Amino acid sequence: MMQIFMPLNFLGFVYREIKGSMANIESMFGLLNQTPKIVDKQGADTLNATGGEIQFDVVDFSYHKERPILSAVSFAVPAKQKVAIVGSSGAGKSTLLKLLFRFYDVTGGRVLIDGQDIRDVSQDSLRAIIGVVPQDTVLFNTTIFDNVRYGRIESSDEDVWQAIKLAHLDEFIQQLPEKENTLVGERGLKLSGGEKQRVAIARAILKRPKIMVFDEATSSLDSQSEQMILEAMREVSREQTCVVVAHRLSTIVDADLIVVLEKGRVVEQGAHTALLASGGRYAQLWEMQQKEEGSSVN
Ligand code: ADP
Ligand code: MG
Repeated sequence: MMQIFMPLNFLGFVYREIKGSMANIESMFGLLNQTPKIVDKQGADTLNATGGEIQFDVVDFSYHKERPILSAVSFAVPAKQKVAIVGSSGAGKSTLLKLLFRFYDVTGGRVLIDGQDIRDVSQDSLRAIIGVVPQDTVLFNTTIFDNVRYGRIESSDEDVWQAIKLAHLDEFIQQLPEKENTLVGERGLKLSGGEKQRVAIARAILKRPKIMVFDEATSSLDSQSEQMILEAMREVSREQTCVVVAHRLSTIVDADLIVVLEKGRVVEQGAHTALLASGGRYAQLWEMQQKEEGSSVN
């Protein structure tokens, strides 16, 4: 009985989660009930993702006509590189991520992935190549192991374990009362913010999307959890194109490209050392945060 019950139960879980997965991504961005329906072009192609190169080409966007949110935003991220988007709250960073997912269409310019305008391809094929580590990860009422497996349902146990290790989640799992079989989620063990994010990263490692998106993934964490997340992110970013929205600049010094957004415009872009040397807005933000961090140690 047990033997029949378990797989059926798991299949039920799989079915519900596959059905619900798109809604989950949308709810992560707080988009439910407010997203205008984007419709696939007739005969839309499947996105042919080769390396995961991203291009924002003079992108304009507004939620409402009278209020521009992004203006002439241009930057390019070669395949497997890491871009960090920084700027004050309200600058348009999360909006930029929503455009990458095509939750909205640009009002001017284009967003290209591997040279293809994302409006020309099916939304399913677009979203299949993008993984997200959101600020608040959704856990399902099942074991922690299956919560990781959810990243790619058909993964072997061995692959799931590998992802768990790469995400620095194994030590935590070994301490749980029933190890990998411990139930988590609303009806099980509650995980901390940092632990949940490591679950999200393990899922992402398993999914191996061409493009990984982190929206302020470390901003609410203590510095030890932050370090673990950063290491795990480094692990992911070796193979994938990464888009990181970061509040703390110290977490993105190693990005290949840093794009500084202000009121929806790119005011500067470049690598950390070059931006510091040019003494502009980034250098100013950096100095401010160095002071803050210095004064908060004690
Ligand atoms: P950031 O992530 O940099 O803090 P956002 O991209 O979330 O900034 O927001 C940029 C601007 O767009 C803000 O002024 C915000 O109020 C506005 N905004 C965000 N989402 C919506 C929406 N769904 N409808 C209308 N305005 C929005
Ligand atoms: Mg945001």
